[in-house]
Amino acid sequence: MRAPLDWARYPNFQSQEFACRHTGRIHMDADFMGRLQRLRQAFGRPMVISSGYRDPSHPVEAAKRQPGPHTMGRACDVAVRGADALALIVLAVQHGFTGIGVQQKGASRFIHLDDLPSQTHQPRPAIWSY
Ligand SMILES: [Zn+2]
Repeated sequence: MRAPLDWARYPNFQSQEFACRHTGRIHMDADFMGRLQRLRQAFGRPMVISSGYRDPSHPVEAAKRQPGPHTMGRACDVAVRGADALALIVLAVQHGFTGIGVQQKGASRFIHLDDLPSQTHQPRPAIWSY
């Protein structure tokens, strides 16, 4: 059982931004959120969270063979494009994010960020596109 997060430690974010869009649950990881807050300070402008915590029952996760980092509270998707997207990626790498997912086509452009450790079946750092 994880202790509830002290959201006052992440002044640029609100808990509801990270609520699972399927269940409303919020189980973000404290280390991830600390890293994200430091990234936000370096980025210096608003970061719109398009996906934060996902319950394992969220359709995107339920369709996977294994639930991903969003179900561990160690990932978020940031709605960002163009020069801002590139700046965010550079800063994310500098701040120790180890998973960078790039979706920069069409209407819903975002950058996925996570900080999972490297594992045999899932080496990190890694970058991918959708
Ligand atoms: Zn994601």
